[in-house]
Amino acid sequence: MSDVEHDPGVEAELNEVGRALYASFPQRSRNPVKALDARAMELASQDAELRAALFRFVDVTPACRSLDDLARHLSGYLNEVDAKPPPLEVAMRMAGTKPGRTALGAAAAGGVRHMAHRFIVGDSPRKALGILRELWEGGAASTVDLLGEATVTEAEADRYAARCAEALDTIAEAAPRWPERPQLEADSLGPLPRANLSVKVSALTPHIRPDAPALGRDDAARRMRPLLRKARDLGAHLHIDMESLDALETTMDLIFELLDEDEFREGPSAGLVLQAYLRESPNQLDSILAWARQSPRKPPLVVRLVKGAYWDHEIVEARQHGWETPVFEVKAECDRNYEQLTRRLLDARPAVRVAIASHNLRSISHAIAYNRHSGGEDRDLELQVLRGLGDELGYALAAQGQRVRVYCPVGDLVAGMAYLVRRLLENTSNESFLHEQAMGVPLEELLAAP
Ligand SMILES: Cc1cc2nc3c(=O)[nH]c(=O)nc-3n(C[C@H](O)[C@H](O)[C@H](O)COP(=O)(O)OP(=O)(O)OC[C@H]3O[C@@H](n4cnc5c(N)ncnc54)[C@H](O)[C@@H]3O)c2cc1C
Repeated sequence: MSDVEHDPGVEAELNEVGRALYASFPQRSRNPVKALDARAMELASQDAELRAALFRFVDVTPACRSLDDLARHLSGYLNEVDAKPPPLEVAMRMAGTKPGRTALGAAAAGGVRHMAHRFIVGDSPRKALGILRELWEGGAASTVDLLGEATVTEAEADRYAARCAEALDTIAEAAPRWPERPQLEADSLGPLPRANLSVKVSALTPHIRPDAPALGRDDAARRMRPLLRKARDLGAHLHIDMESLDALETTMDLIFELLDEDEFREGPSAGLVLQAYLRESPNQLDSILAWARQSPRKPPLVVRLVKGAYWDHEIVEARQHGWETPVFEVKAECDRNYEQLTRRLLDARPAVRVAIASHNLRSISHAIAYNRHSGGEDRDLELQVLRGLGDELGYALAAQGQRVRVYCPVGDLVAGMAYLVRRLLENTSNESFLHEQAMGVPLEELLAAP
């Protein structure tokens, strides 16, 4: 059934689902991008050089340890923008002196703080607990992501692993006190953990090398194993995010190898991420399904399907080396592939559990419609959104009885800065669904087949 592209029955259901969701968004949230600073959005969407400078800034921000440091980098990158808009000229002048830099850093931090509370649920797992509970009471589960480790040393990787362990303890200790929410606690395959943590392999080892994946895999495994044990003992779910292509092989090898170990046969529930912007993703799905089907593990592997957050990085990297780009370059091709992978994943149950992570109303509605059309129950499909960008979509989905999980970053302001600029860049790209939605593209076009 999964080969049938644009089946009329699925399209009709999809339109109905999409329209109902859209109608239930509060008026103001038809422009979710408004959550981002309007001026920053305007500048970033118009100026290619500024975008490039911001991309470089995002890359170094996690390594900044102070406001002074942050401002030095910011001004360094902005210096490369030829025709600076007035606010940038002011920033450049401020960055010329130490007090100026501190003030600029503080101003940047102030701006970040202003936006951050929408995107980041707290600066520590404990401080995030209030929001996690609120989400749960409102009908949405969560997964916590710890921001802010640029792991270049063993000590940093150890610290990240320790923070993950502490986060698991904190959330798993609080979660049993949340009220019952049957819709979020089980699907037809069995119970679903309340506590859920997303981790990044690049933060668990400083040794990720695409030419020597075993090095990073073995080093990350040392830190991942105790986390899997802890998640198993606490009854929590551990999800491994996917990053740029350099880390893909290490990440996949690590997951398959660890989950195959005898001690993890009964648990914990664990998951990985498939990125539909990769041309190779259909083959990667073959490998994932082959592994899942032969695995004797009890909890089914959760596969989170995303489009991919490192598109610009992959394009730049490939061009620099004269390689063929590993990602689709036409957005519609990526969207079509996303739908094909959605159908294949839904057809592959019960070997896997499926999580569709997107803010694109068409992509989400397609998953719901295809699931129903192929006889699936709504509770056997999870829909995931990012805190801050997908809030209203998440509420609308939950109100319609869908199983929703909100991805909740936790971290301080400096770490938050990189996260926010990344989201800013993603959503000022002309091809972003949220950007189109914000520009007032009619609903029929938003729901049209890619
Ligand atoms: C809960 C959650 C968890 C996530 N976890 C991860 C993760 O672990 N790893 C990860 O990489 N990402 C992750 N993401 C981010 C995700 O990959 C997307 O970047 C983001 O959700 C935007 O996609 P969309 O479907 O919401 O929006 P859309 O606007 O429909 O799609 C935007 C995406 O399309 C792709 N794209 C843009 N331009 C082009 C083009 N010209 N040609 C081809 N493709 C293009 C890019 O991937 C871009 O991000 C996560 C997202 C969510 C909601």
